[in-house]
Amino acid sequence: MSDRGGFTVWFTGLSGAGKTTIADIVGPELERRGGLVEYLDGDVVRTHLSKGLGFSKADRDTNIERIGWVASRFTRAGAWTLVSAISPYRETRAHARGMVEEFGPFVEVFVDTSVDECARRDVKGLYAKAFSGEIKEFTGVSDPYEAPESPEVHIRTEGMPPEESAQAVVRALEERGLLRVDARA
Ligand code: ADP
Repeated sequence: MSDRGGFTVWFTGLSGAGKTTIADIVGPELERRGGLVEYLDGDVVRTHLSKGLGFSKADRDTNIERIGWVASRFTRAGAWTLVSAISPYRETRAHARGMVEEFGPFVEVFVDTSVDECARRDVKGLYAKAFSGEIKEFTGVSDPYEAPESPEVHIRTEGMPPEESAQAVVRALEERGLLRVDARA
């Protein structure tokens, strides 16, 4: 395996937890440090790569399987890959980890925000619809979310500005020695 220094940061958490917001701050910072940064955002992926998939367990697993596979290819190519996807099932996340780790590190970031707080933020107006039953199979309300048991990074966003959450992620990557561009083979 030729190590081009690629890795994947995998943000998991409820809808509205802050995955995209944090990734969007971390990404430019990683670019400033010389990384080739790629993003795989669940909402975006569902408009093309996973277009047509729904929210049954089977479709959610297929979606995460696809994202995991693409993340593994990006990692192989040396990209610093930021995945933001609810990815509610532990086993499916573990499978994505396995695919990525063939080529580089997988850093799971649990963006830990309670259902109550996500519903209070209700950025996309989805929680109101989930509580009224207009949207079925909504993660954390009417569908499962299996929290990570030992994520590499655990961020409790409540009462914390997004910039601070992003800094915690960058620090964790630094501590793992992943941001040393000149150290690449
Ligand atoms: P997700 O990608 O997890 O669905 P979003 O990033 O789209 O969530 O939305 C998260 C919302 O929470 C944003 O409006 C963001 O400003 C807010 N927020 C508040 N505190 C934080 C934090 N510490 N980290 C990330 N987002 C936060």
